[in-house]
Amino acid sequence: MSEEVKTIYLCLAHMSEEGYEQKYVKEAFDTNWVVPMGPNVYTFEQNLADFSNANLDGSKLDRKVVCLSAGTAAVHLALIACGVQLGDEVCVQSFTFCASSHPITYLGAKPVFIDSEKETWNMDPELLEKAIIDRKEKTGKYPKAIIPVALYGMPYDCERIMVIADKYGIPVIEDAAEGMGSRYNGQVLGTFGRFGVLSFNGNKMITTSGGGALICRSDEDANNIMWHATQARDAYPYYQHTEIGYNYRMSNVCAGIGRGQMTVLDAHIAHHKHVQELYEELLADVPRIHLHKQPSEENENGVKKYDSNFWLCAATLDEDVKIQGQKNVYKEVIKTAVGGVSGVVKSVDSAVTDCQPNDNVEALRVFMAGKKVECRPVWKPMHKQPVYANAVAYTNGISEEIFKVGFCLPAGPYVTDDDVHYIVDCIKEAIVK
Ligand SMILES: *Cc1c(COP(=O)(O)O)cnc(C)c1O
Repeated sequence: MSEEVKTIYLCLAHMSEEGYEQKYVKEAFDTNWVVPMGPNVYTFEQNLADFSNANLDGSKLDRKVVCLSAGTAAVHLALIACGVQLGDEVCVQSFTFCASSHPITYLGAKPVFIDSEKETWNMDPELLEKAIIDRKEKTGKYPKAIIPVALYGMPYDCERIMVIADKYGIPVIEDAAEGMGSRYNGQVLGTFGRFGVLSFNGNKMITTSGGGALICRSDEDANNIMWHATQARDAYPYYQHTEIGYNYRMSNVCAGIGRGQMTVLDAHIAHHKHVQELYEELLADVPRIHLHKQPSEENENGVKKYDSNFWLCAATLDEDVKIQGQKNVYKEVIKTAVGGVSGVVKSVDSAVTDCQPNDNVEALRVFMAGKKVECRPVWKPMHKQPVYANAVAYTNGISEEIFKVGFCLPAGPYVTDDDVHYIVDCIKEAIVK
């Protein structure tokens, strides 16, 4: 470490050394394509499709990709394309960021939250099937879509989820916003379901400053998504509308950043995996801290079933571990929110809620912040969020338990080997002997 201690952030955007992002953005200006579509968008879409279609064994898929203004917009349009309407139900992983489930409510539909399995922290296939059967019994209808989420990049059990979805004829919208470039059986996440969601927000695997995309199975789906993303215009010499559309297309300026970022995507993925490996090695002998690892199963061809991009590295801390400063946590109402730089946060009266990380986990966050290391709690499950208090949930206690003991560690291109050593040393220092 240098004299001046830098802050080690959770995950930061990182541009190519060659400055390709600025080159393509400049091209947009030079050619006067400063609009929501244009050559950068089409090329970025082709790059994304090429990336998504290349399986590890050399075989190729033929998915299409449509670029949009955000990952949240991608979830929204995928739901519309799956026919989700007022009053319908959609099964969605509870353990996730709110963007997986909020678009369901935009449509007046109802999320049915599905808890996680221990190994991957993602949608539990058994609970999913139980929920599907139970919803049919209780409402007379099957849920209209299934949304599994690649939490922190970790693949869900694609095999079992797809088998269940096919059995009941329900389309799958894969939320691979955090799982860009993660693979299952050598195939990129987002290519298994009817749709795959990608996000290029500032802190994801690659960024366009803000943006997203949908991986689609057919030209028909891709065209339908593009139509809805551009205000659903019918073919007349004037504006004629037969359906409600949205202004969700990606701008040609943002797509220029995306084109540049595609040149570093493979390097980013490799670096995230490297950082995870180093944490695994250095935390191996720290008792009662458990790094979240991917299942080590291989398929019949000797290919890893689970191949995470390790967007963020996550861990859990046993409840009986004492952390410095633990007695003083949750005493004061704070003024900011997690991820606080963006937008406005609503002030609150209480420093606590009825479901929050354990005191030692919060103490570790505070301790690490004092060491200029950003640690964050894991996502709070949606079925524990006040805004979803009335939603139906099929639970097994796993996501709630992980929320209490879990935390995220910095990863990504800016995190050096020295940083990982420093972070692990800080964690050791935080533990009261
Ligand atoms: C980031 C994210 C999204 C959506 O992303 P935006 O591009 O920020 O709209 C969706 N789902 C999950 C799980 C995410 O982490």
